[in-house]
Amino acid sequence: MTRVYNFGAGPAMLPEAVLREVRQELLDYKDSGISMLEMGHRTETFRAIAAQAQADLRELMGIPDEYAVLFLHGGATLQFAMAPLNLLGSRRAANYVNTGYWSARAIREARGFCAVNVAADGDTSGYTDILPVSGWRVDTTGAYLHYTVNETIGGVEFHWIPQIQGMPLVADMTSMILSRAVDVTRYALIYASAQKNLGIAGLTVVIVRRDLLRPVPSGTPSMLDLREHIKADSLFTTPPVFAWYVAAKMLTWLKTEGGIPAATERNRRKAALLYAVLDASGFYVSPVAHTCRSWMNIPFTLAERGLETAFLQQAASEGLVGLAGHRTAGGVRASLYNAMPEAGVRALAEFMREFERSRA
Ligand code: PMP
Repeated sequence: MTRVYNFGAGPAMLPEAVLREVRQELLDYKDSGISMLEMGHRTETFRAIAAQAQADLRELMGIPDEYAVLFLHGGATLQFAMAPLNLLGSRRAANYVNTGYWSARAIREARGFCAVNVAADGDTSGYTDILPVSGWRVDTTGAYLHYTVNETIGGVEFHWIPQIQGMPLVADMTSMILSRAVDVTRYALIYASAQKNLGIAGLTVVIVRRDLLRPVPSGTPSMLDLREHIKADSLFTTPPVFAWYVAAKMLTWLKTEGGIPAATERNRRKAALLYAVLDASGFYVSPVAHTCRSWMNIPFTLAERGLETAFLQQAASEGLVGLAGHRTAGGVRASLYNAMPEAGVRALAEFMREFERSRA
């Protein structure tokens, strides 16, 4: 078996240890005679896994009791709608920060439910920088302020929390959850789909302060009502059992790797390795402002754009795959989620230096 380093943005690389355990348990989960692919969601076995995943996530992220933790379907994309539906109450407006593709998607969806005030828009920088808070225009009647902590395509990441005038914060943490320490108590609602740092596609985690939830508008499908999911302990509908099981494994793995403090240091080092190559010469071009460079998704181009196809092909032939930029952006993008070992990033950095030397 040859495993490659998969730099894809998601569904993304999983730790080999997790894959091996899944394989080992696949036919017969712990002598139950049943595969997790066949396991009922109300069995004792699954309930134990579900409870462990929640307890581990709470421990890793330091999530207090006043927050509900939900394991849902629908992707982060459904949360673009569920956040306004569940937080607006009688309010008519909400604030959004537009830092790129995924913020824009959240904004577009929210416009169906409320007046969106775009408090800050990265358009003047081509979405490569974040405006300082002093320049933001926040509507104080808004129910909350939504932002995308890490733009998976643009590679723009907040390294600070935009707390403004007590405005409840809603954060899309899809591509950075568990990559570094986060003070959950600063947020009203956090959501993240799982296929990057939490396992496989099909699962979305929602962390929400219960007292900030408001009744959904009448006529809203009950599946979109977070309070229904809380009441049912995330079993309002048949949950994505297998994805939840893989998430439980990912959380255990992360704990054995030293939890968030160790992950933070690893991710800081991994990103620094790659940015050092990008900054070493003019051969590679990193578009993002230094103050908001992502640790998880690093987009870049080659100064000579015509070389990109050869770059991607040669990288793939050396076991460095998934490096093509998003279909809307082109160029190159390296995603360095928790499962990407430092050895993978060193291999990529070495390949990039060698490719540069060979073409200089
Ligand atoms: N937000 C961000 C930051 C993302 O990266 C993605 C997916 N790449 C989404 C939202 C959408 O997630 P999903 O496809 O799971 O709905």
